[in-house]
Amino acid sequence: MRILVTGGAGYIGSHTVRQLIAGGHDVTVFDNLRYGHRQAVPAERLVVGDLRDIDHLDHLLVVERVEAVVHFAASTSVPESVKAPAEYYTNNLVYSLQLLDRCRRNGVGKFVFSSTAAVYGLPDYGVPDAVPIREDAKKVPVNPYGATKLAFERALEDYSFAYPFGYCALRYFNAAGAAEDGAIGEDHTPETHLIPIVIQAATGKRPHVEIFGTDYNTPDGTCVRDYVHVDDLAAAHVLALGKLGPGKRLTYNVGIGRGYSVREVIATVEAVSGLTVPVKEGVRRDGDPPVLVAAADRLRAELGWAPKYTNLRAIVETAWRWHKAHPDGFGG
Ligand code: UDP
Repeated sequence: MRILVTGGAGYIGSHTVRQLIAGGHDVTVFDNLRYGHRQAVPAERLVVGDLRDIDHLDHLLVVERVEAVVHFAASTSVPESVKAPAEYYTNNLVYSLQLLDRCRRNGVGKFVFSSTAAVYGLPDYGVPDAVPIREDAKKVPVNPYGATKLAFERALEDYSFAYPFGYCALRYFNAAGAAEDGAIGEDHTPETHLIPIVIQAATGKRPHVEIFGTDYNTPDGTCVRDYVHVDDLAAAHVLALGKLGPGKRLTYNVGIGRGYSVREVIATVEAVSGLTVPVKEGVRRDGDPPVLVAAADRLRAELGWAPKYTNLRAIVETAWRWHKAHPDGFGG
């Protein structure tokens, strides 16, 4: 299949691009390299461009005779979205809608979208079985990031009823880890994600990790998240592309169905690295739901998704290897 991958040089994008290429697909990566890394994708596949440049994208859709778009390019930080909603609505909604409409006009009938567990907002803890979160749970995002992703999911759904078009929205829980062979991994600037931050604190690259809130109503008072290995997450995109066709409306959680607290993440990094992590207990971060754990059985049942990494330790081991080999990320 001829596939355009926006944001394909980023963390989840680059792991997905590798699997698509390995699967024999003809992949064009479109990335502005603001967060993505040139070294993370084969040079001959990369087109450097910005999502706002819709004519550039349109040109690629036509000349590359694109059959499917996998759309990663987005602003992706929950706390940043609270401070800069304008950027999030513009990048994640306005530019994504432009792309979607060019897909329609150019007859691109398959679209895989990077959505997020943040679409759910606060799980309805009063309701029995509210956690793990099922795809049909109520969706009331508590931050602009989640709101922009949910709005675009809605546009996809409406398009799929009116046009010859099918989509898959993958609601990521917490992507983590690095490719098993250590070729690519996680490198964000600035880094905001827990596992790389804890590893940096373990290795002395930062003075400590600050725990954002210790007074949540969770077993140890810290937030609980469902960490899913980036290669398992990438595999979900490949499976989704295989299922898509006109009128298909697919929406899946991508998580392993098990939650770990911030303190458990820190303890796991200590166990894997043999190092001590300096910790500072801090206040809650804006926009953080206390618990986000996926009900992940729909993806397994319908697409045959079978994650290779089913516990946090196995995921952290791959992250640790990548960070030890690349202390300065792709720049090192
Ligand atoms: N977190 C933390 N300290 C940090 C970074 C993150 O305590 O320096 C917490 C954060 O509040 C959340 C969890 O770790 O509860 C995972 O955060 P991350 O930013 O990795 O992913 P998110 O869940 O926001 O997508």
